[in-house]
Amino acid sequence: MSEDPQVFVLTAVVYGSAPGDSADTRNFGPPRHVEAEFQAHIPDVEFNKGPDGLTAWGTMYTHSLYIDLKHSHDWRCAYCDKQARESLPAFMSWMHLKPPRMNIYVHLICDGDSPCGEQAREATEMMGPPVMPRLPKFGQVYPQAASCAKCQSDDSAQKDQMRCSGCKLTRYCGANCQREDWKRHKKVCKATKEVKWTWV
Ligand SMILES: [Zn+2]
Ligand SMILES: [Zn+2]
Ligand SMILES: [Zn+2]
Repeated sequence: MSEDPQVFVLTAVVYGSAPGDSADTRNFGPPRHVEAEFQAHIPDVEFNKGPDGLTAWGTMYTHSLYIDLKHSHDWRCAYCDKQARESLPAFMSWMHLKPPRMNIYVHLICDGDSPCGEQAREATEMMGPPVMPRLPKFGQVYPQAASCAKCQSDDSAQKDQMRCSGCKLTRYCGANCQREDWKRHKKVCKATKEVKWTWV
């Protein structure tokens, strides 16, 4: 654990499936997932707000991680064999603890307006209340999770991608995209403490 007295500990679990998974694997097996732990320094002004103010800050902090959590594998929808395109998050927080902690559970799904979206909402409701959910807009097609974290193009999803060696999470189509994204990704990369794959 960090020596920082103002550290925030976030555990993120991302669920999805992989190309070639059978319907049985998706419905009855343990879902494929990655669990990542992040540690971030809480700014003084936020830290002094106490647990309630911290919850809002912690929720905002998770927004800075969505790209990295999503573009981390050749993900398919958690409930069907289509490309995963949308992230449906649920939160649990213990901001009164020392250090304050939050868990976020993200289901990667094909389309929030489909039966898969319904299933994901049911699953996330059991895990925790969706605090400020990032609701996908109706009818919008989002980039594939399998695509590069920077260019997010369908073409990049067809290529062999490289994973950032710092965090071992975020994937890019090449060195150019990785370099161009570094300004954004740097903070996430440094905050990443552990990444555990459950990939059977
Ligand atoms: Zn689906
Ligand atoms: Zn790219
Ligand atoms: Zn990284």
